[in-house]
Amino acid sequence: MQSFGKKYSHLVHGSGCGCFSPSLQAVSRRLETLSRRGFLAGLGAAALSTSLPKNSFAQGAPSKTVFREVRVFDGKSGSLQTGVQVLVENNKIKSIDATNSPAPTDATVVNCRNGVLMPGLIDAHWHTIFAAVPLNVLLADDPGIIFAASTAEAERTLLRGFTTVRDLGGPVFSFKQAVDSGIIPGPRIYPSGAMITTSGGHGDLRLPTEIPRDGGKLSTGELMGAAAIADSIGDLRMRVREQLLQGASQIKIVGSGGVSSPRSPLDMTTFSEEELRAAIAVAQDWNTYVAVHAYTPRAVRRALAAGATCIEHAHLVDEETARMIADKGAWLSMQPFLTLDDAATLSGPALERIQELFAGTPRIYGFAKKYGIKTAWGSDVLFSPELGPRQNFMLTHLSNWYTSAETLQMVTSGNAELMALSSFRNPYPGKLGVIEADAFADLIVVDGNPLDDISLLEDPGKNLSVIMKDGRVHKNTL
Ligand SMILES: [Zn+2]
Ligand SMILES: [Zn+2]
Repeated sequence: MQSFGKKYSHLVHGSGCGCFSPSLQAVSRRLETLSRRGFLAGLGAAALSTSLPKNSFAQGAPSKTVFREVRVFDGKSGSLQTGVQVLVENNKIKSIDATNSPAPTDATVVNCRNGVLMPGLIDAHWHTIFAAVPLNVLLADDPGIIFAASTAEAERTLLRGFTTVRDLGGPVFSFKQAVDSGIIPGPRIYPSGAMITTSGGHGDLRLPTEIPRDGGKLSTGELMGAAAIADSIGDLRMRVREQLLQGASQIKIVGSGGVSSPRSPLDMTTFSEEELRAAIAVAQDWNTYVAVHAYTPRAVRRALAAGATCIEHAHLVDEETARMIADKGAWLSMQPFLTLDDAATLSGPALERIQELFAGTPRIYGFAKKYGIKTAWGSDVLFSPELGPRQNFMLTHLSNWYTSAETLQMVTSGNAELMALSSFRNPYPGKLGVIEADAFADLIVVDGNPLDDISLLEDPGKNLSVIMKDGRVHKNTL
């Protein structure tokens, strides 16, 4: 039980990223309590996690589906393909058939009424476990409810049209297994596991009573696994390797302060360039990459100098630093926060910090376009079931800077390019984010044309008539 608890104990300690809760300290305290009760041991997933075959709990064998009377946005093109039907066999797209040959006799035919079939949406910055667990639930002292809330949110996320998320911090490894095996509905998850930070860096939510550290003893938050704190290169390498051995598809390193971290102001910087370089080398040894949480020019430049593949946030960078992101060929994973509607209720310093980000958002998108930065989109929605639907509005915020076609390309095939950088650690090797033969059958049908009206995606309950993930239908109102 000891090793189980330890292995899965990096799970909660809530610190997302840009993560906008003013009360993380209180949450942290509560999670400490939960951990003492061994709530992750109660989850009972460790023994299962390496043995659950894919879809072993899914009901009914997936088979053949034909989408007819459909216009196709393939994830890459700027226009729609018409006069075709799309055949899905098991979990893959079998063909885009321009001859419209008769459907196989054993196929389910979906008449799409001239709706637009497109790849499922991909969110490149998500926190599966924390997105919708409200503070009062976290504070309610019932460990099971945390994962119950995450479970409910995973289905809502899928039903908003998101068939894939990249998880940038949280106790998500066994949860991902539960989704993949069909126990619960939810999007594909590219897990990072615990976000790795320094003492005092964003994500260090230790209580005052836990400082100074008692020898080599880990804080409960670290044991639960949302954050891992390292102050030496040796520890840093170990923490990175611990995420990878649990199945991390990429590594999340904290490079600077955050919005909500009470003791980690935005301007502070965490790891040295040498330390970042060491973490990146470990990830490269595992044939994957590091994403660095960084807001300021100094933090971003240091991450780039160390060879980071992906910069998260970067809302506060100047033009020269933005140009460096482009020159290095690094990815920029951006979240278009514009107003307080996009974030949970904030107060005090966190409110001032988020206002800084709002001001930075249009600037960084301007730079991204000017210098041709490889830009991914993510929502980073946290700590609120009410805020969950903002995920779709965060997506349509992109229309401030991009055409509808560019937006839809970014959130499908574009984000899929970033997912593919996980290389040998990619949990879903194959074509994602496109409608092509042999691509994963992650599909949505929009009742209307999102190339003409991107706001259709703001009301997925009304405007998405079909949602299919991995060849399985999760919604069909046709
Ligand atoms: Zn985040
Ligand atoms: Zn972050």
